[in-house]
Amino acid sequence: MNVLSNRAKSLKPSPTLAINAKAKSMQAQGIHVISFGAGEPDFDTPENIKQAAKKAIDEGFTKYTPVGGIDELKDAIIKKFQRDSHLTYKRSEIIVSCGGKHSFYNLAQAIFDQGDEVIIPAPYWVSYPPMVALANASPVIVETTEKNEFKITPEELKKAITPKTKAFILNSPSNPTGSAYSKKELEKIAEVSISKNFFVISDEIYEKIVYDGFEFTSIASLSDEIKKRTIIVHGVAKTYAMTGWRIGYTAGADEIISAMNNIQSQSTSNPTSIAQKASVEALIGSQSEVEKMVSAFGQRRNYIVDRLNKIPEVSCYKPAGAFYVFPNFSSYYGKSFQGKKIENSTHLADFFLDVARVAVVPGVEFGADPFERLSYATSMEDIKEGLNRIEEALNKLG
Ligand code: GLU
Repeated sequence: MNVLSNRAKSLKPSPTLAINAKAKSMQAQGIHVISFGAGEPDFDTPENIKQAAKKAIDEGFTKYTPVGGIDELKDAIIKKFQRDSHLTYKRSEIIVSCGGKHSFYNLAQAIFDQGDEVIIPAPYWVSYPPMVALANASPVIVETTEKNEFKITPEELKKAITPKTKAFILNSPSNPTGSAYSKKELEKIAEVSISKNFFVISDEIYEKIVYDGFEFTSIASLSDEIKKRTIIVHGVAKTYAMTGWRIGYTAGADEIISAMNNIQSQSTSNPTSIAQKASVEALIGSQSEVEKMVSAFGQRRNYIVDRLNKIPEVSCYKPAGAFYVFPNFSSYYGKSFQGKKIENSTHLADFFLDVARVAVVPGVEFGADPFERLSYATSMEDIKEGLNRIEEALNKLG
């Protein structure tokens, strides 16, 4: 008898979370690791949000809620979409889940079947392909280039389309590259989706983390036709430093949201009641802390990109958003340290951890082996120290 299902056997843990856990366990052993690992803001959750959660506990708001979230939170989400993207949704078009990842997972379970193809531009966030595969569909990976700021062109997208194409995953600003699509670029993607009739899953979790006046556009806001084909996946984790609260949400057609509700009702039930109340405050309360955090991320981005580009043979695209840089380290592949050859992004990430005590995520996990991902959602002091260590370690390679 096989103990494990084939599904479980083929699955490996999320590499971003695995690296984060490894860095934390080394830190617990007293090793001073600088972590550029998981994308998690180093800031505390803003005080007004914490107060809303404390109030919920004190008022006894600690029981089951409706499976897809309380109306008060759905209304806050509806207001947020109206305020930020001029998008109008009804309550029946919104569902709250246990984090953005859970939103995506339930969506995949709701719309994908065996044989469906899902176009995913690489570099992609690590969990998209496994979540598509867990829904029995096939990820179709389309490589993008550094030269095109890691953005898929309409031509590249068209080439990947077959009669089996069910959806395209758009993540702007992107994890891991930080690149973001302009309104014009999105209009072209929308045209392709409408003419070829497939869904766009728009993961907008980094919407608010943009720099130098970049104007975020939701593809769903471009026309009624594209709105019908778009499902937005979003959450409070990154914008409000609420990673541990686990609140994500999805906006899309009633039929899809209702199917997700059924899946959720048979699996997790409602997201945490207290976190839902906190998220209402996050979405429609004061947004001043967001500005402060984004401004700090912006300063770190400038610093880290400059430093990385000063390292000989490293090139680093300056991201428009999110809190990651995705430098190309491939010139160092083929070099050795103490008789061990660095041949790929995994070897280099291991080398950085062992020799420099710096955690990064190998590019191969995002479908792009020449690169490493560094999250700069960490203090400036750590960024400086981490880069000093990386430079020193690279100098040891011969
Ligand atoms: N999304 C974050 C990251 O890419 C958190 C970890 C995860 O869920 O992958 O680092």
